Amino acid sequence: MDYRERLIVKPGSHVKLADIDPGFHGVHESHEKALPELDATLAEITSLQELLYAEKKHALLIVLQGIDAAGKDGVCWHVIRAMNPQGTSVTGFKQPTAQERAHDFLWRVHKHVPGLGQVGIFNRSHYEDVLVVRVHDLAPRHVWEKRYETINDFEKQLTESGVTILKFFLYISKEEQLKRFKRRLDDPARHWKISESDYSERELWNDYTKAYEAMLERCSTKHAPWYVLPSNHKWFRNLAASHIILETLKKMNLKAPPPTVNIDEIREKYHKAASEKGA
Ligand code: AMP
Ligand code: MG
Repeated sequence: MDYRERLIVKPGSHVKLADIDPGFHGVHESHEKALPELDATLAEITSLQELLYAEKKHALLIVLQGIDAAGKDGVCWHVIRAMNPQGTSVTGFKQPTAQERAHDFLWRVHKHVPGLGQVGIFNRSHYEDVLVVRVHDLAPRHVWEKRYETINDFEKQLTESGVTILKFFLYISKEEQLKRFKRRLDDPARHWKISESDYSERELWNDYTKAYEAMLERCSTKHAPWYVLPSNHKWFRNLAASHIILETLKKMNLKAPPPTVNIDEIREKYHKAASEKGA
């Protein structure tokens, strides 16, 4: 199945999350059944990321958004597992510090954008400035309203300098979120993950839904599309994310750079003599 085609938010289209099934799981019935495909996809990603790292002509930025417990951390784990750590970075965006608040909202973001040869993952992102900020009135409407356009311009500029942008919205149902919170409660090893705000934010589910829909509608562009990943099934979420990443890497037509030395000369100079000496 072409997950890109199926899950992309077509630029300019109207988005109603209620029409999307967060429990969608494609052709496989279970994690076990999907495993061979998952492993094969990750293996291909590994080879292509190595080329991206070597070639240094492209960068890949993966933006993750989603409500608490949607699986942003899980996707980071999953994707990074396939990659050479030297070529990757993960940046989590929390409440802005006083210094960050004293700058424009993109200031803290721009410096974490991956450079050529690198893959960067944003666990939350500049989109918080049209999500939590909008839902909690942390800035007046006329301020956050302008940000959709500012974000589109910013992302366009990044793509023009070699950064390919993939944006994944991890979509779970309200019931699934509660189940996940409950599992955290039942597992002492994960108690540290629980915060009061998880529950208070949950009360604002409908406001968040509206803010997500606006983000998806207004900021899914040709140069930086949004994908809605049905995420009730963690394995499907991971499979869909890796498929889209793999297809995107394939489209870059990555090639190992040519050697910087004369290979024959090197072989002649250092290996021939050595092999004659029996080394
Ligand atoms: P977590 O990702 O669970 O560690 O939580 C990070 C928290 O920081 C979330 O509640 C976000 O909504 C919040 N956050 C991230 N970016 C911003 C922002 N620009 N303004 C206000 N809150 C933010
Ligand atoms: Mg949290």
